[in-house]
Amino acid sequence: MNYKDYIADIPDFPQDGILFRDVTPLMADGDVFKKACDEIIAFAKEVNAEVVVGPESRGFIFGCPVAYELGIGFVPVRKPGKLPRETVSVSYDLEYGSNELQVHKDSIKKGQRVLIVDDLLATGGTVDATIQMVKELGGVVAGCAFLIELAGLNGREHLKEYPVFALMSYE
Ligand code: 5GP
Repeated sequence: MNYKDYIADIPDFPQDGILFRDVTPLMADGDVFKKACDEIIAFAKEVNAEVVVGPESRGFIFGCPVAYELGIGFVPVRKPGKLPRETVSVSYDLEYGSNELQVHKDSIKKGQRVLIVDDLLATGGTVDATIQMVKELGGVVAGCAFLIELAGLNGREHLKEYPVFALMSYE
């Protein structure tokens, strides 16, 4: 089985010039979805993750099964105005446009080992913003896991200090 057979390549989405890697076919196949999550779970065990942090919205889809399997918590990172209690926030540049992310201020305990899970690493702006918030709350970034890395965009430049797992890599 090749994971890439379950990724749909969509030209010019969500805007001209972007080749979007659509992970929904992988999610829709029960066996492949489970295999992919199991690989992230193995990485989470290796890095002794104590909590999973996932950016909206595909970070929820791949992060929650990992947290559930390990019996650890899941912390959502969301766009502004979505979280109901006190938050910290960071603004960052996206592959297309710019964005701001927030997390609940009391969501991570001091010294807690955090695994960040998202579907895709592009420029690294999203994961970098997430790391900044984790650190601000006193968490320790134990590692970062992605289904897909777009290696040509050098997102790993933001992640030199941390263990990184990516199931698939595209140039
Ligand atoms: P970055 O911040 O690393 O530039 O972009 C990564 C974020 O944008 C991730 O949260 C990811 O969900 C989303 N993203 C950017 N490009 C793609 C893409 O081609 N496919 C998917 N599935 N997500 C993307």
